[in-house]
Amino acid sequence: MCLFCDIVDGKIPNYTVYEDDHVLAFLDISQATIGHTLVIPKKHYDNFLEVDPQDLQHLITVSQKLANKLMTSLNARGMNVLSNINEIAGQSVHHFHLHLIPRYNDNDGIEIKMATTEDVNFDEVLNKINK
Ligand code: 5GP
Ligand code: ZN
Repeated sequence: MCLFCDIVDGKIPNYTVYEDDHVLAFLDISQATIGHTLVIPKKHYDNFLEVDPQDLQHLITVSQKLANKLMTSLNARGMNVLSNINEIAGQSVHHFHLHLIPRYNDNDGIEIKMATTEDVNFDEVLNKINK
């Protein structure tokens, strides 16, 4: 059993934003910004890579509706939608979850910086991906 399975089972309380037979959405205990929401399948999958495609399809549809709802209800100007896979990418709870993080201003609680890798051989990369 994992932490989020315990939340699904009601063993750990949560602030529920949305619930149906397959999906639960609740406020992240650590609010990166106001309204930071986690959307999870009720069934345990370790991460995005493992999720049954049908469950994923439903979860994405729900997440889009919730993202729109958060945008309007909280007056957000934007949103980061992300999922971390494995520790190297920052995953700390190994039950698949999508973060919905409303954005309000340039210096709110989240900063995503993407470096530019130098000297990339694009043909080589593509060959590796598609071989
Ligand atoms: P990750 O780092 O795996 O992408 O995200 C896990 C998230 O779960 C973190 O943002 C963390 O704040 C949140 N979290 C951890 N424990 C709890 C909890 O008991 N309740 C809630 N609502 N969120 C939690
Ligand atoms: Zn779980």
